Parts: sequence; C-alpha cells; structure tokens
Amino acid sequence: MARILLVHTGGTLGMAGRRPEALRPAAFFRTLRRRAPELFELAEVDLELFSNLDSAEMQPELWSRLAALLYRRLPRYDGAVVTHGTDTLAYTASALSFLLPGLPKPVVLTGSQRPLGEIRSDARLNLVDSVICALRGPPEVTVCFDSHLYRGNRVRKVKVAEYDAFDSPNFPPLGVLGVEARFEPGLRPARRFRLLERLEPSVFVLKVFPGLEPSLARALLPGIKGLVVEAYGSGNFPVSPRLGRPLRPLFREARERGIPVVVVSEANRNGVDLALYESGAAALAEGAIGGGDMTPAAAVVKLMHALAYFRGRAEVRAYLEKNVAGEHS
Ligand code: ASP
Repeated sequence: MARILLVHTGGTLGMAGRRPEALRPAAFFRTLRRRAPELFELAEVDLELFSNLDSAEMQPELWSRLAALLYRRLPRYDGAVVTHGTDTLAYTASALSFLLPGLPKPVVLTGSQRPLGEIRSDARLNLVDSVICALRGPPEVTVCFDSHLYRGNRVRKVKVAEYDAFDSPNFPPLGVLGVEARFEPGLRPARRFRLLERLEPSVFVLKVFPGLEPSLARALLPGIKGLVVEAYGSGNFPVSPRLGRPLRPLFREARERGIPVVVVSEANRNGVDLALYESGAAALAEGAIGGGDMTPAAAVVKLMHALAYFRGRAEVRAYLEKNVAGEHS
C-alpha cells in the first residue's frame, strides 16, 4: 500500500468551538480518525504533528522548519499532505516551493472553511482529495481545495466564507476532482532535490494607495533589506512632484541603500509591465525589479529567499526574474 505523510500545522480544519465562543485549535488527529476514517483506506497514512496554530501565527522560521521536516521525511513516502489554515496558506505554499527545489513527490497543502468536526464541514472532502492528489498528482507543491488542485505559489485566498476560498488567476488548475480526478503533468523535477531553508525576513510589503505619504514610505528603508511594492495595475504609482506625493525618490533611495525593490500588481489577474507607463519606466530606471504576474505572497517569500542566498544586486535580480518554481509565466 502507498504511504502518505500527513503533517498537521493547524487552521480552522482542526479547530473547535461554538459561537459566541471563538474557534480554537483542538485535538485534530482524534477528530480525523473519527470523521475521516476512509483516509486510512486510501493509503497507509502516518500522522505528524508539526504545530497546532491559527495560520496567522505562521512565520518564516516555521516555513524553514516545515521544509526541513518534509525534506527529511519524504524519501520514505509516496507524497505528503500538509494541513494548514487558509489565511496564510498561500505564503507557506510559496515558501515550500522555493525551499524545496527539485521536489520529486507531491506535497499537497489543504485546509477548510469549517472545522472537520462540524456537520457541514468542507474539511473531509478536502482531506480525501488531498490524499488522492498526494498519490496521483504532479510532483510539486500544490494546494487542494474545493475539488481543485492548484500550483502552490500561484494561489490567492479570495473568499472568507465560501467553500471555494482559493483561486489561481494566472495559472490553470493542475487538477480537477470531479466524478473522476484528472491531473496535469505539472513541473518536471529536473534538478537534484535539495533543501534551501534559509530566509531573510527583513522585508516589507508596501501597498500603493492614493494619499500614501512618500516620507513615511522612505522612513521604512533604514530598517529593511528588501521591499515589495504592490502597485496599481501594470505597475503604476504616482510620480508627479506637482501633485505632491511622488514615489520615485523612494525607489532612488532604495537603490542608493542597496535595497532590492520588486514591483507586483494589486490586480489579481495578469501582471506588471514596468515599461508600459511613465511611473514603471521610472522604477526601472531606479533599478526596480518587475515581478511579472507573481502573486504578492510569492514575491515576498521569493525576495526573502533571494536575500538569504545572494549578496550581489545582479544575483538577487536574476533570481527574482527567473521562473524558479513555476511562480511566474
Ligand atoms: N484563521 C484560520 C487560519 O488561517 C482560517 C482558516 O483556517 O480558514 O488558521
């Protein structure tokens, strides 16, 4: 029988509580054996408790530990399922995709909108589907949710209270689990399987909005090593000195301080094209890196990873612009 490792990190899936009480992490494995016994018919499933946290508590140090655990354990399994809260699932999925290059087996992240112990929970189906994806899906880091399998570093949480919580706006699903489960081939693990677990967390994400005070944004720079700018549309932001809040000096000062700046779009679909408008061109002239159609979550994690492994500006840029794990088109 095939062997699957199921690593629990926490999230609503494993929580309990009735309103007006808040949902809190609970004894997940006991509920799992009671509510989803069929999992153990699909494969020999070993359970491993990594943590039992609301995913708002996830931090880069935990991504590194989770990647190291998967790296050590995977040789003995056919695939792994990681249960996770939906709030930061897109970050963890992105992180694992960069920290585990050359992954030879499926690592499937899943969660749910309602706890497994509740009657109308989506957790049971997500768990069963995830085990199927870990057995038959492509060898990469994926997210299985609401009968779909997505590339992990492409997902965004788009809904808070409906079962189709995730979308992958710039990359088609890698699997659809209808009456039949169908999968795409996914990434080909050409490189040697490695663990690159280091991350430099001193990164900031700055969202551009009308009224953003450039001096406040510039005040961030002494405390950070990398910056992700979530700009409008194709990578736009104000540049007019006449209208009082130009952001070009932010890009200039970042360049002078040797801080890489990656520009991504606040729009879900498509990506930035810095050469299209005046502001993007100004950012390019100040050395900014276009993030293409990467999600903001993938961009921030990739920048943390680049800063941990590369010293030179050119190397950081090359890593950010390269398609490392299918994260941009
Ligand atoms: N707050 C929860 C978490 O991310 C939400 C969820 O799991 O759906 O852990």
